[in-house]
Amino acid sequence: MDSHTVLYGVIGDPIRHSKSPIMLNRAFREKGINGAYAAFHVSPDELKQAIAGVRGLGFRGLNVTIPHKIEVMAFLDEVHEGARAAGAVNTIVNNDGRLIGYNTDGIGYVRSLKEEAEPDLKDKTIVVLGAGGASRGILWALAQEKPKAILLANRTEEKANELAAFFSQESGISAIPWSSLQDVCSYADVVINTTSVGMSPNIDAVPLDPSWLKPGSVASDLIYNPLKTAFLQQAERNGCRIHGGLGMFIYQGAYAFEYWTGEPAPVEVMRATVLESFGK
Ligand code: NAP
Repeated sequence: MDSHTVLYGVIGDPIRHSKSPIMLNRAFREKGINGAYAAFHVSPDELKQAIAGVRGLGFRGLNVTIPHKIEVMAFLDEVHEGARAAGAVNTIVNNDGRLIGYNTDGIGYVRSLKEEAEPDLKDKTIVVLGAGGASRGILWALAQEKPKAILLANRTEEKANELAAFFSQESGISAIPWSSLQDVCSYADVVINTTSVGMSPNIDAVPLDPSWLKPGSVASDLIYNPLKTAFLQQAERNGCRIHGGLGMFIYQGAYAFEYWTGEPAPVEVMRATVLESFGK
């Protein structure tokens, strides 16, 4: 670092588990870019000051994670169309003091799901568990693939109803009660966990009983810490194809890197760096 170093970071609460700093700093080094990326613990009542700090200190970019992806939009100058449709921002670009919000979670997730588990989502029945910030991001991107149906269930059912109503009828997204999950999982082609259930340190928790899934269907989990959640381990034992959150994490970071620097991200180096940090 020197007096020309351009600054980046990620804000969240909690944040110390984040692999974004090692992944993005490695990407800057690989591409010979004089940038530095750090993690900042920001509580909800500090969010406004944190964003003012981005402007004041001239950070070029910021990632945003739990629990700020929705609330942060109030402090930006512009929200990109895809992020507006998703209703959540995970990446901010500072263009000479003008802060623009993007959502790279959804497009990163869908690219990873198609590359690693299910190349064609058209006409598939997809179940999405969870109606938080990550769910919002992927729903819009999933709907672009024209599946047969996207069935959304959330522990707090009112939030699933509100989120489904937020999207247009053509999106094919509808809310279902949590109590109907056993039934819909028996015929769904893809079941996606977007809740935080199973995330480190609560690694033995599962969001639903994995034996409800149809053998041969895809069980997908947005969580990447641990790499293979208890939900995925049990679904795999029951004959499902499995898809973890690491690919989404790599590609959301790659898209953010590209928005900030205008250069293609070194995706394989980023993946290897994160895997190495897990001791794999
Ligand atoms: P969030 O906005 O806080 O939403 C959390 C969701 O989990 C809500 O739907 C919540 O339901 C549900 N939930 C929490 N505890 C639950 C429980 N005990 N039983 C059932 N549902 C429960 O969080 P988020 O930003 O959407 O993130 C969710 C997960 O996605 C996290 O584990 C995060 O690590 C992961 N993620 C991964 C990536 C990636 O790159 N791979 C990117 C983003 C997020 P209620 O509404 O009922 O509280």
